[in-house]
Amino acid sequence: MSPVEPLVRIQNLHKYFGPLHVLKGITLEVAPGERLVIIGPSGSGKSTLIRCINRLEDFQEGTVTVDGMDVKDDRLLPKIRREVGMVFQQFNLFPHMTVLENVTLGPIRVRRLSRAEAERKAMELLERVGIADQAKKYPGQLSGGQQQRVAIARALAMEPKLMLFDEPTSALDPEMVGEVLDVMRDLARGGMTMVVVTHEMGFAREVADRVVFMDRGEIVEEAPPEAIFTRPKEERTRAFLQRVL
Ligand code: ADP
Ligand code: MG
Repeated sequence: MSPVEPLVRIQNLHKYFGPLHVLKGITLEVAPGERLVIIGPSGSGKSTLIRCINRLEDFQEGTVTVDGMDVKDDRLLPKIRREVGMVFQQFNLFPHMTVLENVTLGPIRVRRLSRAEAERKAMELLERVGIADQAKKYPGQLSGGQQQRVAIARALAMEPKLMLFDEPTSALDPEMVGEVLDVMRDLARGGMTMVVVTHEMGFAREVADRVVFMDRGEIVEEAPPEAIFTRPKEERTRAFLQRVL
């Protein structure tokens, strides 16, 4: 037993989409403060796996707990979702709301903060991600990189214990990838527990405590980045890394 209780504990997770067996017995733990990066080919189940952590996807077998709470327990699910922030490839901002409104909505509605308090905190967060000057604009008026930074600020406004990122830079023009990775690096330095699906191998190498390689619904290999990138043990890992590095 590890001395520290894991923040996320996934045991023997199986997920089917109809006849398609998408997750084939995933067992994985994430410690508080850990930065886990998940890599693997398209269609290997990475998105499905992280969506099971806050039960955006239901699953047929196995258990997932967050902070000791079973995600299958419907009474606990709202609390779990408050503790888990998520950032998607497509930023998923509310287009008819300003940046500031996007970031204050959750805290006002769910955390019951006053508007003034929510706005004060939102401005701090927008400052932190470098877009305080865009607060009054609408998402459509921002670049992709700026929108993704708003999405990160919006998730952080709920004061999550865990942040999930599903290919947060994959929809961005190349020149905007860096500004989003910088924000994520900053978050990692601040001690946030993070699970990141990404194809940015440089980021994985620099930020991850542990890298998980998935293929066809299984965890093929997991290791610290240095080990997995320089001496992968499994042939499937080697073949994948050869294609992407
Ligand atoms: P990845 O994120 O690694 O690219 P996904 O988790 O998105 O992989 O998908 C894993 C598999 O599940 C793929 O074969 C995909 O086509 C399938 N899949 C994903 N979402 C759905 C869905 N909502 N309905 C049916 N099949 C799905
Ligand atoms: Mg995916």
